[in-house]
Amino acid sequence: MWIGIVSLLPEMFCAVTEHGLVSRAVAANRLQIDVANPRDFAHDKHHTVDDAPYGGGPGQVMMAEPIAQATEYLTNAAPSAPRRIYLTPEGRPLNQEVVEALVSHDALVLIAGHYEGIDERVRANLCDDEVSIGDYVLSGGELPAMVLIDALARRIPGVLGNAESLACESFTKGRLEGAHYTRPRIWRGEAVPDTLLSGDHKAVKSWRARSALKRTYERRPELFRAQPLETHEITFIDDLQRGGDHAQEQGS
Ligand code: SAM
Repeated sequence: MWIGIVSLLPEMFCAVTEHGLVSRAVAANRLQIDVANPRDFAHDKHHTVDDAPYGGGPGQVMMAEPIAQATEYLTNAAPSAPRRIYLTPEGRPLNQEVVEALVSHDALVLIAGHYEGIDERVRANLCDDEVSIGDYVLSGGELPAMVLIDALARRIPGVLGNAESLACESFTKGRLEGAHYTRPRIWRGEAVPDTLLSGDHKAVKSWRARSALKRTYERRPELFRAQPLETHEITFIDDLQRGGDHAQEQGS
């Protein structure tokens, strides 16, 4: 996958290109990242990239031309026609489904805004998509772009060591993932659930499914709307609601 980024702060991306999973994806040549700074495409003496908003009001707006030229530069550098995405609180909410859809693209250009945002005409003419990472406002689009890049990188085939872990991750099947335990067996007086030590793979699988269900029911029941409950899951939830012993011992 190839990702171009339009950013006034290219150095920020070292946080992902030099550390952790994204850096490993880059080193393995499964992900290429290119960054263009709109300031390099501003041709006045001060390399101006922002100006006051027409109509007045607070703050500055990123001017259309430098950001358009940086976007076009990356579009030409991309190995195939990229999907161009502006990161903005006004965009469609980022979730796993959006990540899955975007990872199918060979090339993306991510546009990070600053100040009050970018000139509307760039959004209308050069962007195919707009994505928000949540209902809060950050000072720039770099962190949102890095959030998206990390989420995409772990879905690129061959990047995650254990592809199996993707299959049961939170949101993959419309459920949260549920509880995990590791050594020691007893920590500060609290023991690991017996089933996980039983060596009975079928029982462990069933325990994990129930743990996922319990956690989803307690924390994100709205996820059941997209991925409705199956009959055996309804029985489990009924038991949970009645405070049944069987359900209570699962996925505490
Ligand atoms: N005035 C804008 C508004 O009220 O919607 C906020 C601009 S914000 C201070 C500057 C830049 O940060 C935006 O252009 C965008 O690129 C980025 N940004 C901030 N919050 C974001 C979020 N939740 N999701 C995606 N991008 C965000």
